[in-house]
Amino acid sequence: MDITHAERAHAVFSASSAEKWMNCPASINMEKKHPQSKSQASEEGTRAHEVAETALLQGLPTTDITDDKEMARHTQDYVDYVMEICGVDGKLFTEERVSYNYAIEAPEGDGFGTCDNIVLENNNLHIIDFKYGHGEVSPVENKQLLLYAIGALSLFSPLQPIERVFLHIHQPRIGNIGSWETDLNYLMDFAEQAKEAVKLALEPNPKFNPTETGCKWCRARAHCKALSDQIEKDVLDDFDDVDVESLSLDDVARILLKKDLVLKFFKDLEQRAYGAAMQGQSLKGFKVVKKKSRAIWTDSAEAELQEKLGEDAYKKTLITITEAKKKLPLDEVLDLTIKKENGLDLVLEGDRRHAVDPLEYSENIEDDFDLFA
Ligand code: SF4
Repeated sequence: MDITHAERAHAVFSASSAEKWMNCPASINMEKKHPQSKSQASEEGTRAHEVAETALLQGLPTTDITDDKEMARHTQDYVDYVMEICGVDGKLFTEERVSYNYAIEAPEGDGFGTCDNIVLENNNLHIIDFKYGHGEVSPVENKQLLLYAIGALSLFSPLQPIERVFLHIHQPRIGNIGSWETDLNYLMDFAEQAKEAVKLALEPNPKFNPTETGCKWCRARAHCKALSDQIEKDVLDDFDDVDVESLSLDDVARILLKKDLVLKFFKDLEQRAYGAAMQGQSLKGFKVVKKKSRAIWTDSAEAELQEKLGEDAYKKTLITITEAKKKLPLDEVLDLTIKKENGLDLVLEGDRRHAVDPLEYSENIEDDFDLFA
């Protein structure tokens, strides 16, 4: 019987959670206490991966595999990308399980992962990862892909000499498609770092090390005292009698760089508090109340409104661009759209959009800006 993507076993030192365990040795034990819950987004991502896998293995167009037009289009983009890298001479390995245990010295069977696609061509190794979410991921020094590459090396270098290594991220829903080239020396140095991280994680009382990148995806965030202490020290201390005007721009930037993590942390705390309260536990300073009620039509309202107002009982609205993309071919929809300039945003330096000179824009940007949009 085939094992679906959702049913696959996960390694303790999994490639996809490397950002966590390589930054924070305690994260493995902490996450064990808080198993992953399925979200709509993760189920959608799993489905998209299965569509791409079937398309590549069976040589089918994605429209033959799924009725979801948007998913078919995005996965076809990815499939085309993989096939282009593969070319006529490349060898393609889809959903290949690779083990990097040998390099990171994790306990037997604890260091493996399943790489979406691996291509071998002309002494080049390509690691290609399909991301179906909206959170932008960079291929540069990407720990997940580096571990896959290390695993793929042990599998394929006996068959074919490998000289250059390319890491690819293909994220069609947000147009983030990029690659990064590295070499075997870099991979070996990285393997040493990963080995060191494994050693620290296997200590009897592994240390906590809260970091932006490590904590961002950690399931234990709402339960982590180390993170809470760090946020208090790094950010909340600044709020004691703070006079915003007196902060230097460096202070402002330093605090804002923590915004995402702090907001995520508070959201997690809210969810945890809500769950506890709904189970009847009390939280000091909080109470449970009914949500504000809102008026809705009675069962007989439509008929009565129709009688009184006729056609005026209804209003017609145009479908959204996203809805249209589900009903019509993409090029037809794109012919009907224009890109409307929307002012300027202040975003993190790593954002893939090009920086612009705000002084060249004559509009009043202060009234209309988004932070980290
Ligand atoms: S929330 Fe951060 S510090 Fe706490 S266990 Fe997770 S990664 Fe480590």
